Amino acid sequence: MKLVFLALIPLILSIGITPALSFDFIPEADAIKSKGNSLTETGSKKVCGDKLCSEMDSKHHMKQSDMKTHSGSMDMHAMMERMDKIHEKHQKHMMKSWDSMTLEKQSQMYQKMQKMIEKMESMDMDEHMKMMSMMGEKDHDKKMHKDSGEKHKTEKQTTITSDKILFASTMDYTVTGPEIDSEKGYAVIEIGDGLYWVSDGMYQIMFLTTGEGVILVDAPMGMGEKIQQAISEVTSEKITHFIYSHIHKDHVGSASLLPKDTVYIAHSDTAEHLKMKNDPQRPIPTVTFDETYTLNVGDQTLELSYLGAFHSKGDIVIYSPAHKVIMAVDLFHPNAAPFQFMGITRDVGEHLAVHDKLLAMDWEIMVSGHEPILGTPEHLKFNKEFTLAVLDNAITAMQTTLPSPTYFTDVPQACAELTLEQFPDLKDIEVYPVENCVTMVFYAMID
Ligand SMILES: [Zn+2]
Repeated sequence: MKLVFLALIPLILSIGITPALSFDFIPEADAIKSKGNSLTETGSKKVCGDKLCSEMDSKHHMKQSDMKTHSGSMDMHAMMERMDKIHEKHQKHMMKSWDSMTLEKQSQMYQKMQKMIEKMESMDMDEHMKMMSMMGEKDHDKKMHKDSGEKHKTEKQTTITSDKILFASTMDYTVTGPEIDSEKGYAVIEIGDGLYWVSDGMYQIMFLTTGEGVILVDAPMGMGEKIQQAISEVTSEKITHFIYSHIHKDHVGSASLLPKDTVYIAHSDTAEHLKMKNDPQRPIPTVTFDETYTLNVGDQTLELSYLGAFHSKGDIVIYSPAHKVIMAVDLFHPNAAPFQFMGITRDVGEHLAVHDKLLAMDWEIMVSGHEPILGTPEHLKFNKEFTLAVLDNAITAMQTTLPSPTYFTDVPQACAELTLEQFPDLKDIEVYPVENCVTMVFYAMID
């Protein structure tokens, strides 16, 4: 049991909120409880585990003498005693943290721990040892992440061969956007090794330095020359590759301002659309793909994939597995209501489906294309709930609105009222409640 508990420690600490462990979590809790606490006072005598500390000392001395007789051998009993001490120390620390946690956090932690313990109990000793060593590595990686703000590299990644990491300080931007210099009009921030995020407070893009040139993803019409200015602030490498996240000009309308020999990469639907448009601001892609494409340039790797037209045409997902950063533009606004007509989504079915596809992937940060902040899986989960709630409201409105010549105005209006009631504090909820309901009403009615 102690082994189970110790194995959990790196994981618990890696969760970052140093939760406590209730005795009730552990089926064998009574066994641990009966051992008391190393700092419990019984009268004037200190209790160490299930012994008086004075007894512990003599026991310990005995062990040391044992060691002398087995000079040069490894004393596993002494090792176990050390583990006991660590165990007790951590347990005390955890109980203290538990008391200061909110009920919600306690409940989340309780469920997590319960699942983990059940899983670990069903393991044999070999599996336990393997898991402990894996957790050790994971914990180590997390610690490296925590040394934020500067370029630190992991010595070992379990699944990714690249040594690139996401900086822990980046998580701050999932809550509050960066300060935008009013003269420059943008902020350029390295969010991971060689991975930069540019935001003007409304639009956002990313680029990567590779040692052999810059890979740029998107070039909003409104950012124009500022894009190259931002890049030249942090690197002398020139842009060699450009990726179209999707067809829309507001996100890619400055693509023509890049160096002449830039390789333009896009989904084949984007290429078809841009050929048809013949728009000088959006050069026709030179590299296209249908399902997936891996872009390796210098020391960076991006995996591009098509998971369905979740917003417009040729919408792709751009993923850096080493950094655990993903870019999916115009899918949603983190911590805010969608732009009108559910983000002018052409296919609500595809739009909904991509939420689950993305949530099944391993990432921590999403560059969403809009808002002053970066997105997280939690933001995306919320957006899915929000979208389903609006759909629900659309259906309720359809069922409760009486037929009349103004039916198609009344239904979205009723749906909007329900949505406003349900999400009164969501940013921008009041901007397009009716328009967003129009999309969901027609999706429910005729799609
Ligand atoms: Zn768009």
